[in-house]
Amino acid sequence: MISFDEALKLVLKNTTPIGKQKIKLKDSGGYVLAEDIKAKFNIPLFDNSAVDGFGVKVSDIKDASAELPVELDLIGTIRAGDSGKILITPGTTVKILTGAIIPDSVEAVVMKEFCLEASNKILIKKSAMKWGNIRREGEEFCKGKEVVCMGKQITPPVIGLLASLGYSSFYVYKKPKVSIIVTGSELVKPGKKRLPGKIYESNSYSLIACLKELGIENISLFFAKDKKQIITKQVQKAISTSDVIITVGGVSVGDYDFVKEVLYELGIKTYFTTVAIKPAKPNYFGTCIKKNKKKIVFGLPGNPVSSLVSYHQLIKPALLKMMGQINKSSFHVKAQLESDLKKKTNRLEFVRAVAEQKNGSLIVEPTKGQGSHMLGGIAEANCLIHFPRDKDLIHKGQNVEIELISWN
Ligand code: AMP
Ligand code: MG
Repeated sequence: MISFDEALKLVLKNTTPIGKQKIKLKDSGGYVLAEDIKAKFNIPLFDNSAVDGFGVKVSDIKDASAELPVELDLIGTIRAGDSGKILITPGTTVKILTGAIIPDSVEAVVMKEFCLEASNKILIKKSAMKWGNIRREGEEFCKGKEVVCMGKQITPPVIGLLASLGYSSFYVYKKPKVSIIVTGSELVKPGKKRLPGKIYESNSYSLIACLKELGIENISLFFAKDKKQIITKQVQKAISTSDVIITVGGVSVGDYDFVKEVLYELGIKTYFTTVAIKPAKPNYFGTCIKKNKKKIVFGLPGNPVSSLVSYHQLIKPALLKMMGQINKSSFHVKAQLESDLKKKTNRLEFVRAVAEQKNGSLIVEPTKGQGSHMLGGIAEANCLIHFPRDKDLIHKGQNVEIELISWN
């Protein structure tokens, strides 16, 4: 049985970005840039005022104070958006609003709060340094500078930055098409009549929510009873329509776990079928080429916590890589354990837990309900404790590695 690290390495080695597409600025949120973005001009575009105030010659007001204000003649106003072709000479001033262009003759802007307006005369109560309250042209980015690099996710501030640079479209990485095939003869959709022995199907809902969180919208959902023929048909359909195929359930050793057999028979190249982790030991990963395109196949165990943990640990990194986020890794920190932690397996365990700040330290407590069928524990958790393979006991008060889980 391979280790988690080996499994993740194999998954990432076999996933590559699936391609690029040109996208409009307004639709680009959540995508990852597939080109470097340079400043086409200086940013700020021109010297402009950081405040509402009055433009002055510094020498005119060098002795100005609240007790001895300096009087200047007001010769005009420049609002944001005006062309600002006004010339001030010694002894004069111009009203300048925030964001307005600074004419060459203005050396500083004095905030309105330090001025008294009396019709055409302005009393200035404070001296100013040269360039005071002026945002200089190019002070943030000079023309030609690389501002946002390929591989950067387009978050709300990044989309704002791209807009401010004047870009209306650019290249991003495509998002993969994903199919989920839910197997199990016991499953009933929530809201439908449930006969004895049946349970409500939950994995498709949580996995679709996971995919949507990554902005993946092109999702096909297939269902199959535990019958080889049906599973085969659904997998074939999924392979022909998607880049990534996720089967759920039927990947273990039970008499009716047909998924691995079906995948072998369909010629999928298998990399692993079990991983030394808990939950989610039965865990399939394979690839195939269909019409010159590489398809990635994950087989998740059906227990709801197993399928979610497995998604988080192995599928999400692969999807992020396919979408261009090449070096995105999960966020790990150390936290102090609130109670003893024991285990019997020789596997890396992902213990569902709640971490919080207490008296200045980060403490962590496993949630109740650690069974791989117990969604309550993972629903409550905000992190996973990584309980190493080679340890069977960690005492209360010791530091453990936790991985923050980030579902929205
Ligand atoms: P399996 O991996 O198919 O052996 O399923 C393991 C356990 O997970 C069984 O108790 C199943 O009933 C349950 N299970 C499988 N698939 C789902 C699903 N989509 N939603 C909820 N429970 C499931
Ligand atoms: Mg099953």
